[in-house]
Amino acid sequence: MQEFSSSRSPFLRATLVAGSLFAVFASLSAGSAGAQTSLPAQSRYQPAANMANPWQWASFPVENFRGYSSGFGYRQSPMGGPSQEFHYGLDIAAPEGSYIRNWWQGEVVEIINDARCGVGLAIQSGDWEHIYCHMKGSVESHRGTLYLVDRSGGLQIRKGQVVAAGTRIGRVGMSGRTNGPHLHWGLKYGGQWVDPAVILRAMYDSQRQRSLPSSW
Ligand SMILES: [Zn+2]
Repeated sequence: MQEFSSSRSPFLRATLVAGSLFAVFASLSAGSAGAQTSLPAQSRYQPAANMANPWQWASFPVENFRGYSSGFGYRQSPMGGPSQEFHYGLDIAAPEGSYIRNWWQGEVVEIINDARCGVGLAIQSGDWEHIYCHMKGSVESHRGTLYLVDRSGGLQIRKGQVVAAGTRIGRVGMSGRTNGPHLHWGLKYGGQWVDPAVILRAMYDSQRQRSLPSSW
């Protein structure tokens, strides 16, 4: 948790982001984002509680958490060399094969398969987009629809599928540009990259007020 307190500015951003989520949640509650019918049942029955504690339905994105191996921001290239690069996400180390869980209910808008991210997913939840990289499995096309298929993990995720928070959506692998098993987790709000560690901190603070889920 050290990187959460490494500088003051993330907390300022956390305030902004948390404030923004109130707006997002309000729009979801009003049904204007079209997602009301698939919200968790509890949130349909307790909208007031949700507004007071907007992060309680968020899921930590990986099982078997082992630590944060690389934070959001400038860093040396992990592949060596003198160059600096901006790391648009948080690397969460976990043993290869650990299940990845969907952070927030949303729609799978992209099945990724490229040299950098490897096999991955992008999920849209209102104004938020969450990206998962270096997963196990392969990308396959059936009748014009893309799927992430991880047969030994028992998973098949379809582009366009709506997935609930906490759903297992893949497993930690070594695909793409990585030198060790971890989940690269990226977050965007309104098209702008956000430091995922700030969000995890807000989730932790929010969920600590209630009983802690086992994933913490
Ligand atoms: Zn990364």
